[in-house]
Amino acid sequence: MTSTVDTPLQSDIDSARRAYELDRMHVFHSWSAQDLLDPMVISAAEGSHVWDGEGNKYLDFSSQLVNTNIGHQHPAVVAAIAAQAAKLCTIAPSYVNEARSEAARLIAERTPGELNKIFFTNGGADANEHAVRMARLHAGRQKVLSAYRSYHGGTQLAINITGDPRRWPNDNGSTGTIHFFPPYLYRTVFHSTTEEEESQRALEHLEQLIEFEGPSTIAALILESIPGTAGIYVPPAAYMQGVRALCTKYGIVFIADEVMAGFGRTGKWFAVEHFNVVPDLLTFAKGVNSGYVPLGGVAISPEIAATFGKRVYPGGLTYSGHPLATAAAVATINAMEREGIVEHADLLGGTVIGPALAGFAARHKSVGEVRGKGVFWAIELVRDRETREPLAAYGSSSPEMNQLVAACKSRGLIPFANFNRIHVVPPCNISVDDLEAGLAILDDVLDIADGLVP
Ligand code: PLP
Repeated sequence: MTSTVDTPLQSDIDSARRAYELDRMHVFHSWSAQDLLDPMVISAAEGSHVWDGEGNKYLDFSSQLVNTNIGHQHPAVVAAIAAQAAKLCTIAPSYVNEARSEAARLIAERTPGELNKIFFTNGGADANEHAVRMARLHAGRQKVLSAYRSYHGGTQLAINITGDPRRWPNDNGSTGTIHFFPPYLYRTVFHSTTEEEESQRALEHLEQLIEFEGPSTIAALILESIPGTAGIYVPPAAYMQGVRALCTKYGIVFIADEVMAGFGRTGKWFAVEHFNVVPDLLTFAKGVNSGYVPLGGVAISPEIAATFGKRVYPGGLTYSGHPLATAAAVATINAMEREGIVEHADLLGGTVIGPALAGFAARHKSVGEVRGKGVFWAIELVRDRETREPLAAYGSSSPEMNQLVAACKSRGLIPFANFNRIHVVPPCNISVDDLEAGLAILDDVLDIADGLVP
């Protein structure tokens, strides 16, 4: 008998158990109290599915950390990595490399406006680190504005510009970072009743903050084009255009963080396209090669690139533009183009996820709001629709949310949950059948949620 992912051999199961034991002995996990963990072993993955160490199959509605935009083990990307590995595994950033040059071309062609120069990093946090550093050197100013309810990464500067509770225990070097309130009508701090009011008031708040901080001291404003982990709250186009105008007015570098929203997730190559906005710097990672090999980067405007035309850019990484990572990006982008994956994501949002979630909101009293675009959606769960009291407090989980996550897993679905929200973020190329099967599980689990609220 041969082993398949659905029917693993006893030796495969034993290996998985051994991996678990070694993990618990030696692996130090991110964002966790180590002794309280019981991580799932993933032994195999394909497309929108993963298999645990015992051979159980799950539909991956999380795309891991919202990065497998083309699903797991896409054959073209796996082949491209293998071919690049056979040819040239690694080369320092100072040399020209075919895979890196081609990846830069493909990315530059897809970013909006004239963001035609690409600085490669190892992931999203360091992309934001470098974007802020470029902005500070370009502007000759220090401060950085960033939104509450945002996430920009886990390195020191990136965690300081982050606007969610992951910043709090790390907030010891945030001099020069100022947070502002973005528009978020469902939980408005501006007492707005319409999206127009919310947008207008959020822009007034931002302009006042700029004036009170001193425009001549502010280097950059960083904003997720559509905030991801913080709640997939899609900003009004007028707000994004207003932010662009304020940055231009005050000479502030506008950095759009597209680490999670970019590369097809929202049904466009980049989420800023929904708002007709061109930032000065655009950061990306995750979907650029679906995370098959770590890669991120900054797409740079001609003005900022020119600052470093004759002047040295004082930053770099040993693996900037790593051949394995950039070969994976070339294959990913080409596959996305060839297979119409961005268009598919757009279609799924409009014809399957959007209508299904609207149905959830109508049928389930535990659902406060649903929102999103493409394959980037959030279901916000509440104890009470009137008061909008969340099913888990801001910055924490709750027994009810844990119960719902467990209920998804026991039904063969891996969800993405954060605080009081479940995000619907499957691969951009998930089939309609798989998507509908996953949504049916969520519908079922929301019945449980309804039973948990008064
Ligand atoms: N920016 C955003 C919007 C993100 O969602 C993330 C990660 O989730 C990051 C930055 C950090 O990226 P990385 O984990 O690759 O450093």
